[in-house]
Amino acid sequence: MMGKHVLIVGAGIGGLATALRLAKKGYQVEIIEKNSQAGGRLNQIKKDGFTFDTGPSFFSMSYEFTEFAKECNIELPFNYVSLDPLYTVNFSRSPKTYRLYKDIHKLAEQFKDVEPDFEIKMNRYLKKGKSLFDDTVDVVIKDNYNSLFAYLITLMKVNPVHLPVLFRNFWQQVCRYFSSDDAREIISLVAFFLGRTPFDTPAVYTLLSYTEFQHDGYYNVEGGMYKIVEGILGELEKENVKITYNTEIVDFVANGRKLEALVDQNNRHWKSDIVVVNSDAASFRGRIFKRPRFSEAKLDKMEWTMGPLTIYIGLKCKLPQVEHHNYFLGDNFKEYANKVFQSSGTLQKPYYYVNVISRNNPGCAPEGCEGLFFVCPVPDLRFKKNWDDKEEIVNSILTDFSARIGKDILPEIISKIIYTPEDWQNQYNLHRGSGLGLSHKMFQIGAFRPANFDEVFKNVFYVGASTVPGTGLPITMISSKLVVRRIEKMKMS
Ligand SMILES: Cc1cc2nc3c(=O)[nH]c(=O)nc-3n(C[C@H](O)[C@H](O)[C@H](O)COP(=O)(O)OP(=O)(O)OC[C@H]3O[C@@H](n4cnc5c(N)ncnc54)[C@H](O)[C@@H]3O)c2cc1C
Repeated sequence: MMGKHVLIVGAGIGGLATALRLAKKGYQVEIIEKNSQAGGRLNQIKKDGFTFDTGPSFFSMSYEFTEFAKECNIELPFNYVSLDPLYTVNFSRSPKTYRLYKDIHKLAEQFKDVEPDFEIKMNRYLKKGKSLFDDTVDVVIKDNYNSLFAYLITLMKVNPVHLPVLFRNFWQQVCRYFSSDDAREIISLVAFFLGRTPFDTPAVYTLLSYTEFQHDGYYNVEGGMYKIVEGILGELEKENVKITYNTEIVDFVANGRKLEALVDQNNRHWKSDIVVVNSDAASFRGRIFKRPRFSEAKLDKMEWTMGPLTIYIGLKCKLPQVEHHNYFLGDNFKEYANKVFQSSGTLQKPYYYVNVISRNNPGCAPEGCEGLFFVCPVPDLRFKKNWDDKEEIVNSILTDFSARIGKDILPEIISKIIYTPEDWQNQYNLHRGSGLGLSHKMFQIGAFRPANFDEVFKNVFYVGASTVPGTGLPITMISSKLVVRRIEKMKMS
């Protein structure tokens, strides 16, 4: 008979949400975390009077958070604000800046020169996205699978009308609806949010366009994204969930099919009836449990999401000309997308995202100052091992940005921090510095993704971006729901 003590390895959003769900069900929960602060990739840096969110800057599917609060019988411990425009897009080929309004009529106005019937096409495209969403998300994503067979049976329940979509990539699907470069490139940008490109992301993910424009939209958190972490930590404290920081699991002790203990860097043995691993579900199996299927060489052969180059900048001036969320794209979309993850040469013409953190959260920067966060997708450490040229690359991004907004920000910088894929790897044990974990290609989702239960140890489970269902904050919230369901089911059996 299983006991009720649960040890969670990692205080990322997946670990924290699972901890609260389990604590509320009466489990005695304890968390250990490698770093000195909770949140994982959803983290925060405070420097020179600025407060920077380090990773996520907005989320979709807000109802995953409200449902979480309801299930845990708490008030949602943070406030979120809807974004409209969702973001802006500027191409280097033109001074025009597109504002991605949720109102499709208002959005279409901006395309009238390049795609005159944009509104009709967009509505048709979104209608298809909605039907993909309705027919797949609840059926496929929100369930646990015990076997590949069970997964395939579920897939067969999906309306066969969507079958052709399975054979296309995101870009091909978008091209069926839109003909101009501007529309195609803008609408397919969301594939980058999954950490890959529209050319290698399955077309089924065009349902995300429906989630961004119509179903729910995007949200910011009042006071910064880290309020999510602080809010959940407050609730965990009320439930007496203990978190031990600066503790990294490096080894294990097993007895047959039972994990006896996890061993930290100081050789302390951590015992528990149940263990939930929030560290990357693929690389933990390889690095800690030494599973041949997840050896370093096998991990390298898997498809991983982008390596992020992130820059946190404090300026001693305001930037009223820049909105909260912005994409700055070059004029070689296909060439860029095809090379970005494998060749460092493309960094000469960077594509990047800029978040003006202090725009809606004035407390995140000193009076009269602005806090900026840049994300530039770059090759992971398999393809670009050496980051000695990071200052040079960052300068090229900041120079490009200055030219695009018509203001030289370089003399205004009073605070600067750079994270390369090396930093992301070392801080959070992310394989080769891949920012979002395993990619979402067809053979790495559903029952093909590393499962949320361990193949060998009956008392070990997984939660987070590289197990089911996938990456991103709301999807990781679903992951916590699924793993808790598994643990509850095991208790019953
Ligand atoms: C630059 C960037 C931008 C992003 N933007 C967005 C966005 O705008 N919206 C969105 O929804 N998502 C975004 N994401 C994705 C999102 O951050 C992740 O999907 C999510 O935070 C993953 O949470 P997690 O709990 O799975 O993992 P993590 O956050 O990685 O948490 C795992 C935790 O485990 C700890 N750990 C690892 N190994 C060990 C060990 N051996 N022992 C002890 N502890 C260990 C780590 O230190 C970490 O704290 C972004 C990600 C990045 C990198």
